[in-house]
Amino acid sequence: MALTEEESLRYSRQLALPEIGPAGQEKLRAARVAVVGAGGLGSPVLAYLAGAGVGEIGVFDSGPVELSNLHRQPLYAAADVGTPKTAAARRRLLEANPGITVVAREGRLTGADMAAALAPYRFAADCCDNFATRAALNRACLELGIPFVHAAVGQMEGQLAVFDPRRGPCLECMWPGIGSEKERSGAEAGILGPAAGAIGCLQAAEIIKLILGLGGPAGRFLMFDLRGWTVTAAEIKKRPDCPVCGSYFTTV
Ligand SMILES: [Zn+2]
Repeated sequence: MALTEEESLRYSRQLALPEIGPAGQEKLRAARVAVVGAGGLGSPVLAYLAGAGVGEIGVFDSGPVELSNLHRQPLYAAADVGTPKTAAARRRLLEANPGITVVAREGRLTGADMAAALAPYRFAADCCDNFATRAALNRACLELGIPFVHAAVGQMEGQLAVFDPRRGPCLECMWPGIGSEKERSGAEAGILGPAAGAIGCLQAAEIIKLILGLGGPAGRFLMFDLRGWTVTAAEIKKRPDCPVCGSYFTTV
């Protein structure tokens, strides 16, 4: 279906990009993306995906908005404190762009629940704040055969990687046994608000690139340290003995 007059105006600045144009905008409108975690990373990811006109966004989170979130989660207002993040995020995203669909899913997902919850989506963003959920997301994306963009942030550092577990390495090729590790929380380690914003914006850009078919090879890894503008890029290799994807192709 061709773009409406309102869509042509709303998205005019990105439609002007040779990489997008009307055909790219229609791809964005048809896309379904799951954003797992609506915190410091999820906040910019959700805002930019909604702004870009991603047709259906699933928002997954299990907690309420807290006062200590607001310095790094500009999706929320002080009046949202105590409200589930999924509900507050959905309301805010639809205020910004009423032309999209936002599905709010409250509650922590682990194991098989994750694959069932992600089944309607074709792309996922790992904006999680704990290792167990990241591990479940990685496995679910492998089962469903969908690519996802991983990001993590703490203090003044962040990392980003694009995974397509059926075509390249998975998160556990990079980080074996991640599901059994204990993550330092933002409360313990501290976090600079713009660090989450910077990494989350890069994550949103990679999701948009995947939708448009502009993504590079899966398995690229980028690490930023905002203290000294240090950027490290690397390729993650698929591990034949990976506990997740190593056995997948021999057992399925
Ligand atoms: Zn793997």
